[in-house]
Amino acid sequence: MGGIVVVGTGQGGFQLGASLREGGYQGPVTLIGDEPGLPYGRPPLSKAYLMGKTDAAGLLLRAPGYYAEHGLTIRSGERVAALDRAAQRVELASGERLPFDHLVLATGARNRPLPVPGADLPGVHQLRSLAEADALKAALAGVTRVAVVGAGFIGLEFAAVCSSKGLSVTVIEGLDRALARAVSPIMAGAITASHEAAGARLLFGAQVEAIAGRERATGVVIRGGGTVEADLVLIGIGVLPNQDLAEAAGLPMGNGIEVDAMLSTADPAVSAIGDCASHPSPHADGARVRLESVQNAVDGARCVAARLTGRPAAYTAVPWFWSDQGPLKLQIAGLSTPADAAVTRGAPGASFSVFRYREGRLVCVESLNRPADHMIARRLLQAGTSLSPEQAADPGFDLKAFAL
Ligand code: FAD
Repeated sequence: MGGIVVVGTGQGGFQLGASLREGGYQGPVTLIGDEPGLPYGRPPLSKAYLMGKTDAAGLLLRAPGYYAEHGLTIRSGERVAALDRAAQRVELASGERLPFDHLVLATGARNRPLPVPGADLPGVHQLRSLAEADALKAALAGVTRVAVVGAGFIGLEFAAVCSSKGLSVTVIEGLDRALARAVSPIMAGAITASHEAAGARLLFGAQVEAIAGRERATGVVIRGGGTVEADLVLIGIGVLPNQDLAEAAGLPMGNGIEVDAMLSTADPAVSAIGDCASHPSPHADGARVRLESVQNAVDGARCVAARLTGRPAAYTAVPWFWSDQGPLKLQIAGLSTPADAAVTRGAPGASFSVFRYREGRLVCVESLNRPADHMIARRLLQAGTSLSPEQAADPGFDLKAFAL
């Protein structure tokens, strides 16, 4: 008997193992991950870790003794090279084969490469793993000018760290605003203003043509816009789901490994969770979404673990997310599309929320330095309770009492 095998020892893979044991599963659980070391959390990599406020031990999701105590076998530094669904086994890069009764793919995502000349020069960095964070941290020690390609979450978090270190920071974004896929224009405007107040320069609608430099990066060449000189370049233009293993095994793919409402792939012996999977979401009117968040990895793992321990239920948890950028704590509950209406609560600036509406229904709340609004929004969205745009905008309306 192979028990449950999990590919990936990141946020989702770890949680799956932990939740299986909490749910009373007594069979073997083997977690296989190609990174060295024990499962760690990625969020601090672009925040506290780069700031030197936490060390590698502080990133660990559980103390080293946890895994043996809970009968979880961790095989770090090992890559799963193939999945044989007919034989119900995986093959490691070493050639070793491991059988499974159930397989969970928690393979995450990898950095999207920037396809321009010079992108592989020394001095050009990306940030997904602890190893990459270590390289970035070491490189930061000797630089004064930093260029960031991409005004997404990772790019802006890194920019905030650099600004707080007194470095000269330029963020280069191809679209016309920051966080274009994630937040409303009004929230993006407030976040941009905060970065500018901290000293960063943000360029929008700027297409990167090349990374300048011969032996190492010296700047970023912008189409029709000259060169932004820099000693260090961070590329933060999003990620691609790690779906190759599932794809080669003939499982349906789209933007991620396609799973159903129970997070099962087309093969009932294989589930997929976290950044690598796309699932139909009741919070997106049933459309498929592939989410990249701690919440999605953790709640997806809990959902699969519950099914595997005899308590099957669809995955309906409200999506939520946070991003810390210098003095800003951005929190998002629910999912929005660019077409959704935006209603502000509080004056746009250092602390306010944006309530997003679709056909008069509350679908998402973006909060900046307003954690209470965020917690209430999660409660409202989970309960399917909508408040009117007028109520949301009225500072005298008691949100907390309404959500109880
Ligand atoms: P991962 O954590 O990426 O784990 C997948 C693991 O599987 C990786 O170790 C990968 O190497 C391994 N793997 C892949 N293929 C194989 C294979 N064939 N064999 C063996 N191993 C394999 N989210 C938030 O909600 N808030 C934040 O503030 C936030 N900040 C972030 C900051 C950074 C720098 C990064 C990179 C991410 C951040 N995220 C944040 C996103 C969050 O960390 C991810 O959504 C989460 O880690 C996804 O978990 P996962 O288990 O799906 O994937």
